[in-house]
Amino acid sequence: MKLVTRIRSWFARVLGRDIWTIESCNETPDAPAARRVYLIGDADDPWAAAFLCPCDCGELVQLSLMRDDDPSWIACGATGDRASLHPSIWRIRGCRSHFFIKDGRIIWAKEARPDRNVPT
Ligand SMILES: [Zn+2]
Repeated sequence: MKLVTRIRSWFARVLGRDIWTIESCNETPDAPAARRVYLIGDADDPWAAAFLCPCDCGELVQLSLMRDDDPSWIACGATGDRASLHPSIWRIRGCRSHFFIKDGRIIWAKEARPDRNVPT
């Protein structure tokens, strides 16, 4: 993650402007809002989650909430609630960000990419 993104994230957290909230909907919005986790499908039993990557790369992250899928994630809450997703999200393409969304906050994981642990 870029240093400027980390600094912006820190200021937003200090100012209390970075709370991620849930929005239930029937399908992924054409223009998703920042800091919004969309739970797609039935409000009581959504089948997918979608949100803009918190690193500001602009990519839409889409995750399965179907229990039989592998991988799949657990999300709970209703529109307006603080978002939580379990387990962590580690993008294997693009920005390769690794983070948690917990109680409306982004918690960045240590940037330990497997390719960086290979002795050179
Ligand atoms: Zn990203």
